[in-house]
Amino acid sequence: MALSRVVGRLLGVRPHLVDPGGGGAPRVPRHAAAVVVVGGGIAGISAAVVLAERGVRVTVLEAAPTLGGRLGAWPEALADGVQQVEHGFHAFFRQYYNWRAILRRIDPGLGFLRPVPGYPILSARWPTEEFGDLPAAPPLNLLTLLARSPSLRLRDLRGMDREAALPLLTYHPARTYATLDDTTAEALLDSLRLPDRARAMLFEVFSHSFFNHEAEMSAAEMVAQFHFYLLGNGEGLAFDAPDEDYATAIWAPLARHVERHGGRVVTGAVATGLRRRADGWRVVTADGTGYDARHVVLAVDPPALAALVEGSPGLAEHAPRLVARMPAFGRPGPPYAVARYWLDGDVRPDRAVFSGVSRQPTLDSVTLYHRLERESRRWAERGGGSVVELHAYACEPGVPAAELAERMRLELATLWPESAGLRVRELRARVAAQAPAFAPGSHTERPGVRTDADGLYLAGDGIATAFPTALMERSAATGIIAANHILRAEGGAAEPVRSVRPRGLLAKRR
Ligand SMILES: Cc1cc2nc3c(=O)[nH]c(=O)nc-3n(C[C@H](O)[C@H](O)[C@H](O)COP(=O)(O)OP(=O)(O)OC[C@H]3O[C@@H](n4cnc5c(N)ncnc54)[C@H](O)[C@@H]3O)c2cc1C
Repeated sequence: MALSRVVGRLLGVRPHLVDPGGGGAPRVPRHAAAVVVVGGGIAGISAAVVLAERGVRVTVLEAAPTLGGRLGAWPEALADGVQQVEHGFHAFFRQYYNWRAILRRIDPGLGFLRPVPGYPILSARWPTEEFGDLPAAPPLNLLTLLARSPSLRLRDLRGMDREAALPLLTYHPARTYATLDDTTAEALLDSLRLPDRARAMLFEVFSHSFFNHEAEMSAAEMVAQFHFYLLGNGEGLAFDAPDEDYATAIWAPLARHVERHGGRVVTGAVATGLRRRADGWRVVTADGTGYDARHVVLAVDPPALAALVEGSPGLAEHAPRLVARMPAFGRPGPPYAVARYWLDGDVRPDRAVFSGVSRQPTLDSVTLYHRLERESRRWAERGGGSVVELHAYACEPGVPAAELAERMRLELATLWPESAGLRVRELRARVAAQAPAFAPGSHTERPGVRTDADGLYLAGDGIATAFPTALMERSAATGIIAANHILRAEGGAAEPVRSVRPRGLLAKRR
């Protein structure tokens, strides 16, 4: 085991069980109640996998024609054939213990996930900063970063407000929110008095990745993410990605898994409201069909959850707290943009498969799909081109997708000049606002998995948890927690839930 992991383990940096699971029968009794899961993204399918495996009669209602939500993929007709196109490239970090546990159902060795080499941060102003080859575990990863980063010299560290930096090392699931949730991430970063370069290269790229502007994001949430990704896990900042499109690698096999265990997956089913019944709930879809169940899991994105609650007028009587929280929770973070370009030539061979970008007005990351995924690789080999995906994680509202795509392409050319001469053969661009906002002061009102209505649960990447988690992993974890509540009510064995070290390295226990 690498030295950093040994040191990390001695300090308790390892997977921690937040729910040991078990406690019931491997399969629920035959008369156990039915469950409806609304939403077929990571959260909904994670819940459905666990429930179906225990013999629960579960039906997933997904509005779109394909599963996956923000991790989805669908076929797009290009001039020279059909290609699966993702909603956007995703980094599968190694401390995503719960999401990986779900994915192991379809591939026990997770062979479809391949390490993505390197994790460079590009800047037009400063030399590239490399995050990919840091030691895996804290504190050696942080010490190495501080020792070798050209963005942060010893004299900069002396000029920093070290007292202000302490919260980054003392994450605590209650105290961090109690002391910092009303502050913005921007104010916290200001208080560190970091040199501009260190702030841009080490911190801003990180905070942008959460689909929130620093000025509108809770400082407590940023500290929690810093802990989850850098200082609380022994797996490192390196990550993996599927070598095939997400429909083939993830969604088709997961749907088959649910169905093989007796679950049902219905796509193109838009839930419009739910009504209380004597023995549970009725979920109504746009075509007027009613789905009855004792338990319902709402695993949709925040604006969709607010719309669903609004479409369920009777809910105010049964879940007044949930209803009261919706106006704030349903307002998503800023729009994000994804542009996939099929180009007539390639960028330099030494360009990384995935790069973060610092301080460009729009562009936040670049992914070279033709060096990552099978279908794109084949397309590029046929015509000698490249497939390049550009992301903006928190962009200006009201700008059309095509314009954002063009802005990102021009910004890429300032970083990688060779890309300027490549001609665009195809472009698929989209802009959407579905990511949860983590606004200052929002923590106490953030809904959790359990609602105040019996048999009604929430799951998704905006739902509160008592342990550090984020993004895809938060979706999977909350989906499993929702399933566990139902399994415990119906006599089935619950699923283990894991997380990273529960507190920061310097956090006091009490
Ligand atoms: C461009 C981009 C890049 C990202 N990169 C990363 C990354 O690198 N790493 C990472 O961890 N995360 C990343 N994320 C975040 C990640 O995609 C999300 O955290 C995760 O997919 C959310 O899953 P979910 O199931 O909670 O929600 P969603 O994926 O939003 O799923 C909700 C589902 O509910 C369905 N639905 C909505 N309303 C209804 C209704 N009324 N009836 C029926 N169905 C409905 C939707 O169609 C959708 O399928 C990225 C996101 C984007 C957009």
